[in-house]
Amino acid sequence: MQHSVSIRDLSLNFGNVKVLEHLNLDIAQGEFIVLLGPSGCGKSTLLNCIAGLLDVSDGQIFISGKNVTWLEPKDRGIGMVFQSYALYPQMSVERNLSFGLRVAGMPKDEIERRVARAAEILQIQPLLNRKPANLSGGQRQRVAIGRALVRDVDVFLFDEPLSNLDAKLRSDLRVEIKRLHQRLKNTMIYVTHDQIEALTLADRIAIMKNGVIQQLADPHTIYNKPVNLYVAGFIGSPS
Ligand code: ADP
Ligand code: MG
Repeated sequence: MQHSVSIRDLSLNFGNVKVLEHLNLDIAQGEFIVLLGPSGCGKSTLLNCIAGLLDVSDGQIFISGKNVTWLEPKDRGIGMVFQSYALYPQMSVERNLSFGLRVAGMPKDEIERRVARAAEILQIQPLLNRKPANLSGGQRQRVAIGRALVRDVDVFLFDEPLSNLDAKLRSDLRVEIKRLHQRLKNTMIYVTHDQIEALTLADRIAIMKNGVIQQLADPHTIYNKPVNLYVAGFIGSPS
């Protein structure tokens, strides 16, 4: 079977510091994978390697069977949503959604179709003419998800997309991200340090510690059969 994303023996050093070490991970088409671990364990670094925002020190990354290790981010077939919204402040929501497509030279009617679809899926149609400054945090994060959505990619990367939101919004958007995945059936790689997010969203959870995956399994297994004390302490039921 061809995997949606395959990470082969990936290492990344910042100077002498080994942040990721000989990491391997195979993700099936349509799978929702959560990378879970404490701050500093290398989650963002791994995601940024997959996105092409960081050069790997060693190893390979395959997306849909293609070796993308040295491809530009825009050529990898991924869409990324960050913790901070990173919207263009001077542009309307509609422009924020369409900007990348315009730059890529996509025909106008196709851009309109994609923006309308993303706006409908995320229920942000009433916001299209507003500027980011006039949106709530939750609305901004929907727009940020919309910007990944219009690119019509197979793989979505999320880096703690909800961590700047208050508890109520976080649980609302969590439900929406789950619904989005059920509708689009694309591959999701979702970074968080929040156990509840991981348990509710993931098909499989990868628990990370110091740049190494300690356990990769479905939420039920991680919770009930943690492989070691670290995993048990982080998420598992005390046994
Ligand atoms: P996480 O996302 O799990 O919180 P990161 O991937 O951001 O962790 O960081 C992993 C480790 O790499 C941390 O020890 C961090 O200090 C270090 N690190 C991250 N980015 C850099 C960088 N640009 N230069 C040097 N060290 C970095
Ligand atoms: Mg991080």
